[in-house]
Amino acid sequence: MKPHDPDSPNGLLANVSHLQQALEAKRDELIRNHVFLQEVAVGQMAASTTWDLAVERIERNAFLLHLVLDALDRIAQGLYGKCLNCGAPVCARGLTALPWVALCQRCQEATDSRSAITHSTIFHAA
Ligand SMILES: [Zn+2]
Repeated sequence: MKPHDPDSPNGLLANVSHLQQALEAKRDELIRNHVFLQEVAVGQMAASTTWDLAVERIERNAFLLHLVLDALDRIAQGLYGKCLNCGAPVCARGLTALPWVALCQRCQEATDSRSAITHSTIFHAA
């Protein structure tokens, strides 16, 4: 605890601002990726196999960008770090590794078992 920093009574908010910076950097990276991938895709339009691959990469990039923007929204609304589904705290280690994660581990696993967008999609995208 830093007594001269009234916004950080327990170190948690300071940590969120660090993660917010990480999210903003990731957002910028994904936007750059998106432009790049679209250019690559246009260049590969003639070859249908690489076209499918390019579209898949664009979709994954856009999906991750969506998660990052949502996480930044949650920081702005003071909801960051809570599971969107059940409200339980999302583990700090998971947030540090992947600051855009929106669900606690239990809800994430439940979602993975019934969703086409899997854990591995989120955790290995981009
Ligand atoms: Zn949950």
